[in-house]
Amino acid sequence: MKHNIKTPERLFTVALAGNPNVGKSTLFNALTGMNRHTGNWAGKTVDNAEGRVRIGEELYSFYDIPGTYSLMSSSPEEEIARDFICFGGADLTVAVCDASALERNLNLVLQILEITDSCIVCINLIDEAEKNGVRIDYRKLSEELKVPVIGVTARKKRTLKPLLELISESRFTEKTERKPVVRYDRNIEEGIEKLLPFIEDKNGTALSSRWIALKLMENDSSLISGIEGYIGCGLRGNPEISEILSEIRKSLYDNGINGNTLREKIVTSIMNRGEKIALSAVENSPGYTPRDRKADRIITGRFWSFPIMALMLMVVFWITIVGANYPSEGLSWVFSNLCEGFIAFFSSIGVPDFITGLLIDGGFRVLGWVVSVMLPPMAVFFPLFSLLEDSGLLPRIAYNLDNTFRKCGSCGKCALTMCMGFGCNAAGVTGTRIIDSPKERLIAVITNTFAPCNGRYPAIITLISLFFISSVSGFGGSVLSAVILTFVVFLGILATFGVSKLLSKTLLKSEKSSFVMELPPYRRPAFIKVIIRSFLEKTLSVLGRAATVAFPVGALIWLLANTELEGVTLLSRFTDFLDPVGRLMGLDGVILGAFIIGLPANEIVLPIILMAYMCSGTLSETESLTEIGRILTDNGWTVFTAINFIVFSVLHWPCSTTLLTVKKETGSIKWTLISFIIPTLLGFSLCVILNFLWNTITLL
Ligand code: GDP
Repeated sequence: MKHNIKTPERLFTVALAGNPNVGKSTLFNALTGMNRHTGNWAGKTVDNAEGRVRIGEELYSFYDIPGTYSLMSSSPEEEIARDFICFGGADLTVAVCDASALERNLNLVLQILEITDSCIVCINLIDEAEKNGVRIDYRKLSEELKVPVIGVTARKKRTLKPLLELISESRFTEKTERKPVVRYDRNIEEGIEKLLPFIEDKNGTALSSRWIALKLMENDSSLISGIEGYIGCGLRGNPEISEILSEIRKSLYDNGINGNTLREKIVTSIMNRGEKIALSAVENSPGYTPRDRKADRIITGRFWSFPIMALMLMVVFWITIVGANYPSEGLSWVFSNLCEGFIAFFSSIGVPDFITGLLIDGGFRVLGWVVSVMLPPMAVFFPLFSLLEDSGLLPRIAYNLDNTFRKCGSCGKCALTMCMGFGCNAAGVTGTRIIDSPKERLIAVITNTFAPCNGRYPAIITLISLFFISSVSGFGGSVLSAVILTFVVFLGILATFGVSKLLSKTLLKSEKSSFVMELPPYRRPAFIKVIIRSFLEKTLSVLGRAATVAFPVGALIWLLANTELEGVTLLSRFTDFLDPVGRLMGLDGVILGAFIIGLPANEIVLPIILMAYMCSGTLSETESLTEIGRILTDNGWTVFTAINFIVFSVLHWPCSTTLLTVKKETGSIKWTLISFIIPTLLGFSLCVILNFLWNTITLL
């Protein structure tokens, strides 16, 4: 199997469809070698992704489409999934199922089989199911469903070969007509029979004419327009069809079936058929295991849920802090020596001081700080976060917050997108596509920035270590840091609740959507894969983004600090201009300026501050944490400055990537501006109030 080979030959398109959380993205990644986000919760895949695979001599294009329980209602994910299966030109649909929840999964499989003949049923997670004693009779299933059925463990690549062979076989086998798997009430079947000849006559596509007949009877108008466009021919306008349709509707009506009951009858027939098939082909289906239930009674229970959640966060932060310390010192040492080396080398070959200053003292030094201060915490935090996600614990944090979110006029899914925001706010904002109600979605978009993202943790951790626990060393110090960081996260969550409540009562009075949050099963995470993938995919990409910005910004700051206008450097002019506002917030002009210049990436805020302080001539060298502490205190930082910095770091404008994502997702400059203004106003006001309090306290 080779990957990602682009040739002009015709592609055979395969859609991976299925319920949420059945391993579609894992399967997609394993087949295509791509890095699609996976995680043990429903709703994280919100758009289609394409990857190419060569099987034998042929090229295949695989699409990972959003998870959905049904193709009959109209949430955005369901529409994307349904439209792709119907009109996306998929030559084959692979319906991916969870072996431990086959009955529920079969509902969707049966709906897919109604639409297309070209389908393979792929039962995933058989490793888990086997452990739970589930036995599946694949041959029986295949007989009942009248399509090939195969079992796989998407996490183990070697189990996927038979699936690839089946896909390739299906490309080259002549399609024969398949008998319908679901039979409806006699009246409905009669209607279909009457319509079929007229539709078959016009339908030259792979869409099932039987399904088109059903949709015509249901009168699903937007979908019928789509079908008409796809088959390239009007159906409702056809006099013969419309005459038969009114005849059918009359006959259905005479038998007590109207528009609503027709759909109900269709859904019930599908569900009954799914239940029957599952009963005949699956033994010991456990559903929600007693062990999971027991664990959930504690983890999501009323009494323990919050302490456990706080403890979980603290442990993650503690491991991050302890784990990041040594590599951080090591990297600092490496970069400091590199800096010295470059300077010596540049001077030996006669490079002018100005160029050395700009490139090394400016660009390279800031780049060095970004890498040494930011990389280690990210390299520890991202994998831990992904492990929480993969194990099923992260969705439980969201579940525990669900009730409070509802009370604040927002919805449960907002808790999920907030959790995504802890990793990266831009990802969290894109994730809000899982929210159906436009108003609740906007609330989730605007408040996502309150979840402190990974770009902000390292600076916060550094300041906590420097200002809060410098007197408590060793184990006690690191635990205390973790406790403080947990409080910082709770500050963000509190702001999310407050602003959600405010928005839902004012700008965005919204109807509450009914959404029942689903708890995924607990899973042993795929440790090695998760760690490697999150390091390569998230840590390096975030670091890459920060580093790309760091070098030019470092050079710019150096330039501003070394260009004078009437005896005063441009940097001083800029920071002096901001100073009064900064001081009002308990910060100073340099800090506020760094937040402004750091708009492209939060990771570079602290390095900019250091650079600006150093350039103003206070110190010439800095490497280790203690040195950083000295630069800050020499420039007037106290524990209060650190607190206000942390508060403003959590509550201020989103980074430019997130703002661009907000613009893309809302399509509106107004809402992008509001996403900028609300957190900024909140952070500014809170800092001013805190500053007033600190000043009053110190005066007493
Ligand atoms: P999707 O929502 O259908 O795209 O599901 P994902 O691919 O994100 O997977 C959901 C969860 O199931 C993740 O935690 C995966 O690591 C896990 N998973 C996927 N396939 C397997 C498998 O074959 N075995 C086990 N044990 N876990 C799996």
